[in-house]
Amino acid sequence: MAILVLGGAGYIGSHTVYELIDAGRDVVVVDNLLTGFRQAVHPKARFYQADIRDRAAMDKVFEAEDIEGVVHFAASSQVGESMSDPLKYYDNNLYGTTVLLQSMVAHGVKKIVFSSTAATYGEPETVPILESDKTQPTNCYGETKLAMEHMMSWVSKAHGLKYVALRYFNACGAHISGAIGEAHDPETHLVPIILQVPNGQRDHVSIFGDDYPTKDGTCVRDYIHVSDLAQAHILALDYLLRGGDNNVFNLGNGVGFTVKEVIDTARTVTGHPIPAEVSPRRAGDPAQLIASSAKAVEVLGWKPKYNDLGTIISTAWKWHQSHPNGYGEG
Ligand code: UDP
Repeated sequence: MAILVLGGAGYIGSHTVYELIDAGRDVVVVDNLLTGFRQAVHPKARFYQADIRDRAAMDKVFEAEDIEGVVHFAASSQVGESMSDPLKYYDNNLYGTTVLLQSMVAHGVKKIVFSSTAATYGEPETVPILESDKTQPTNCYGETKLAMEHMMSWVSKAHGLKYVALRYFNACGAHISGAIGEAHDPETHLVPIILQVPNGQRDHVSIFGDDYPTKDGTCVRDYIHVSDLAQAHILALDYLLRGGDNNVFNLGNGVGFTVKEVIDTARTVTGHPIPAEVSPRRAGDPAQLIASSAKAVEVLGWKPKYNDLGTIISTAWKWHQSHPNGYGEG
């Protein structure tokens, strides 16, 4: 039987496919390639170019393949864009998941692990954040991901679906082999943007606000290596396949870094001065997001390998130096 990975040509999806294949699993990938890259799909995975909003296409995949579990990454994931184009997020994330679940229910596929986010919490009252803390998103991206979690819960009651929602904090880094890494067009995430400076692709990095209530005024985030996130998906899938019940897990390192600290770490890793300029706040950004991942450690047996930000940024730097244009030419 196979594992179906939706969005398996994207950043976290492609890394998860590599880990699944390394673990000896048979993997089917569906991706519409709007933001993902065909070259990011592991050569041993069977690939279908399709959109999860296309019911007929999804039905075809479930009919052609013997799927025992689904890992769902296929979604739009940029905070800033979700504030300027919220309907894109409702369409891609919520409507897309609706169609996917309709097709899963129709084909009797009942196990799903899916990408959720720290953005479901909004501005936390205390850190580190626990899964039981209140969820009140400050941006539309987080709102659609929280609604996806609720959708799974109702579908579970009605149709016996079992799900695990993984609330990621800030994914970064690249596969240790250097074969795959982060590539978005346009790039909006902090670590790849910082590394564009030493790579000669931009002359400075903008710091979005330095008047937050944090130690240096810039936003605090919990940065977690993408391959550690990928491992958590395999553990969550195994948990469901052993009969585990619906669950939600935070995935982070439990340590917060300010934007300025991330830039400083990248200066050390690359040996480049990386000029930075303060610019206005970005809409929808909470001041501070730090995970407690104790539950994932305890229940799933998750053991993140990369707990040092310098090492995480080194893996990203290796990828961006060898692939300055991501998966594109030159
Ligand atoms: N950020 C920044 N400059 C940039 C990109 C991001 O100052 O060019 C900040 C952003 O405001 C946030 C943090 O870096 O506080 C991480 O942003 P990213 O988009 O990487 O991830 P998010 O936290 O939105 O998931």
